[in-house]
Amino acid sequence: MARIVLDGSLQGWRAHARALVASGASPEEVQWVDLLRGGSAGAGGLFAPPDPTPLPSEPGPELMVPRAFARHAGTAACHRSPEVWPLLYRLLHRIVAGERQLLDDPLDPDIAALTRLEKAVRRDAHKMHAFVRFRRVEDPSARGGERFVAWYQPSHLIVEREAGFFRERFPSMDWSILTPDRCAHWDGAAVRFTPGAPRDHAPDHDELEEMWCSYYASIFNPARVKLKAMAAEMPRKFWPTLPETAQLPRLLADVPRRLEEMARTSRRAADSAHPFVPQDGGLDRLRGALSGCEGCELHRNGTGPVPGEGSPDAKVVLLGEQPGDTEEREGRPFVGPAGALLRRLFTDAGLDERDLYLTNAVKHFRHEVQPSGSPPEGRGKRRIHKRPTTQHSSRCQPWLDAELQHIQPRVLVSLGTTALRSIHGPTARMPDPADTPAERPSRYAPATLSTFHPAAILRAVEEPRRQRMMGHLVATLTAAREAAGLVTGRSAGDSR
Ligand code: SF4
Repeated sequence: MARIVLDGSLQGWRAHARALVASGASPEEVQWVDLLRGGSAGAGGLFAPPDPTPLPSEPGPELMVPRAFARHAGTAACHRSPEVWPLLYRLLHRIVAGERQLLDDPLDPDIAALTRLEKAVRRDAHKMHAFVRFRRVEDPSARGGERFVAWYQPSHLIVEREAGFFRERFPSMDWSILTPDRCAHWDGAAVRFTPGAPRDHAPDHDELEEMWCSYYASIFNPARVKLKAMAAEMPRKFWPTLPETAQLPRLLADVPRRLEEMARTSRRAADSAHPFVPQDGGLDRLRGALSGCEGCELHRNGTGPVPGEGSPDAKVVLLGEQPGDTEEREGRPFVGPAGALLRRLFTDAGLDERDLYLTNAVKHFRHEVQPSGSPPEGRGKRRIHKRPTTQHSSRCQPWLDAELQHIQPRVLVSLGTTALRSIHGPTARMPDPADTPAERPSRYAPATLSTFHPAAILRAVEEPRRQRMMGHLVATLTAAREAAGLVTGRSAGDSR
């Protein structure tokens, strides 16, 4: 029985293994004891002698083994298990004995064990690349008088294997990676290795840490949080050396709110006019951008959208449903028959149109085309108004939001159900024609009033109801003028 005491290095094992194979020692006749790994394996017991066995004075004969074996052995030898040396010796012995294709047999128990060890080492290396965090310390002997020091606790003995990765990544700074087993130091010319160091040899905190924490918070993606995967990828033993982990409880607590916000934003972006609405500039910019909107299917079946019109400083905004046939052809709101009625009633209410801004909740004309017995404009077809759906209103809402954000009216008057629900939500109900106009606040204006659309008044079949609706409209416009503090009866020639 040969008892070999190793210092933990692959070089030591290789020298002894070569001599042992040359002497014909079978794997069962060798006991490997590793001082670094703190154990022994193979036949013979578990007690480690104090000193490594001296290397053979005569190197054994060159062994004919596939080049891939050296590569596999180099990776597996970083594993912390003391089983690695007897395993490598068994493989070497079998290959030299004639099993030349052994490495190609994944079902062989020794090859399966080798693969497991290599995988564990590679996984540990991957974590080291991700979780080493340097902190700056003053060091007069280093380039620029500063050194970046990290303390890290790998699962396996990978510092020497991975030092090259950090040298390539951070060639221009002097750095040290301290671990309990081995430390690596880079000075711009060479990597030096020294014995392991305890945690308190590395600094705890530096000013770069705050920058890193802010950056980490900004890239933290709540939609990709998987707690189990996080725990697997970032085991708690790494947390003390990772400054960002101190932020995790706060960031995780905020995940539900941020997910809801992301869902809201993406709903807005995917199903609405939002991507088409300019985020800066004034009303003119909005008007210019409106013709490019494809926030709903209505952009396909008309000649164009109709923007709002009026004073950008208007204290009162009148909000209708959608443009009609005439409005769409002329590109202006409230210029058809309903608009003519509305303008007549401005006079009754003492309103001057120059104090107003007129717009619609939906900017395109929703209609259907029907054959006409008496063709208008010689085309033999007419466009029949169709009420926009709640979906059309909500998709078009970003335009209204932007308009009202610019104007900031004192009073907002909704004309008809579609306009009312754009302001107060889908369950809001129209007033009764006999009601007194009632102000209420909304997110758009301190005072919001609702009344009938002039088109609905024109469509009303019974004359008494038509009169009551018209009375309600005039009373509401009057209340709006008063709430806005506008003087009554200004003529068209008055200066503003
Ligand atoms: Fe865009 Fe509104 Fe026209 Fe739809 S109706 S395309 S959302 S402007």
